[in-house]
Amino acid sequence: MQMYSEADVDITCLAERQITILGYGSQGRAHALNLKDSGFNVVVGLRASGASWDKAKADGLNVMEPNAAVKDATIVMFLTPDMVQKALYQSVVDDIPQGATLMFAHGFAIHYKQVEPRSDLNVALIAPKGPGGLVRRQYEDGHGVPCLVAVNQDASGDALKIALAYAAGIGGARAGVIETTFAEETETDLFGEQAVLCGGATELIVAGFETLVEAGYQPEVAYYEVMHELKLIVDLLHEGGLKKMHKFISDTAAWGDMISGPRVVDAASRAAMKDVLNDIQDGTFARNWIAENENGMPEFKRMMQTDLDHPIEKVGQDLRGRMDWLEE
Ligand code: NAD
Ligand code: MG
Repeated sequence: MQMYSEADVDITCLAERQITILGYGSQGRAHALNLKDSGFNVVVGLRASGASWDKAKADGLNVMEPNAAVKDATIVMFLTPDMVQKALYQSVVDDIPQGATLMFAHGFAIHYKQVEPRSDLNVALIAPKGPGGLVRRQYEDGHGVPCLVAVNQDASGDALKIALAYAAGIGGARAGVIETTFAEETETDLFGEQAVLCGGATELIVAGFETLVEAGYQPEVAYYEVMHELKLIVDLLHEGGLKKMHKFISDTAAWGDMISGPRVVDAASRAAMKDVLNDIQDGTFARNWIAENENGMPEFKRMMQTDLDHPIEKVGQDLRGRMDWLEE
């Protein structure tokens, strides 16, 4: 494993150079503001009609339409949704200077060949392991969110050096930057969110809720047990791994964890995880997701509505409304 820290980074390679950030959402805002506060020359590229334009202006940034924004860029960072990166690249490619570095915060567009960059360009990845709000907050507090770095095309011979300087600019080098490949970052990121973080966790919560409610228990009590209290456990895991969780839960909870966890996440679940990973690795997931976008996302909208209409949402909304210390 290769891990870089601030001592390994030479940020002078970006002095006086322009860094263009395309998109101003979760990641875009955090990267643009952190880089600006680190002393870099930042331009934000947005559609003049888009909702983020006024926000970026109000944050004191230099904002231009995408084509103008890339014209003098040394780095062009793509922080729009993954599914619009192909069209956006095609619309700005003729304005990107020779020898510039294209950067991404997630490898999807490059790994699945949605974007096939000109051969004179560097192609690199700096993927913070956290949402944009955290990337900004940690930077402001003098810390950083760890990042992954990868180089997919090294036209200039110093693509890694440039990417690491960028990582330092957003604060990531303070926490460490691990070297990876576009394939590893893309496939593990997709697997994590599908099998564990988003898909796995929410399905586990809903299945637990339904099991209790179908057995006759009150939905409110079920909600507290399977959704509300999850945060307490996740915080312990985040701060100190399995060891810290085991230290803070009761012996009864720990015993139940160890004998029942493997009954729920059993050989069938593990086989399903392998299937999910296979779909990611062989491109099936990407192909279907791209097609869904091209079709106007009917399945996406239908399944999202089913999630939002679930009884756990109604119960949760009422109970959360009584806990005024929760942030919506
Ligand atoms: P987002 O949805 O929060 O923001 C997208 C931004 O792009 C918005 O400002 C939107 O106005 C703008 N935009 C949309 N279409 C555009 C177009 N055609 N031209 C110019 N701008 C356009 O996106 P995000 O969640 O910040 O994701 C950006 C990238 O970062 C993605 O590659 C994503 O995979 C990656 N990433 C996200 C997270 C996260 O936690 N959100 C974490 C790591 C990596
Ligand atoms: Mg779900």
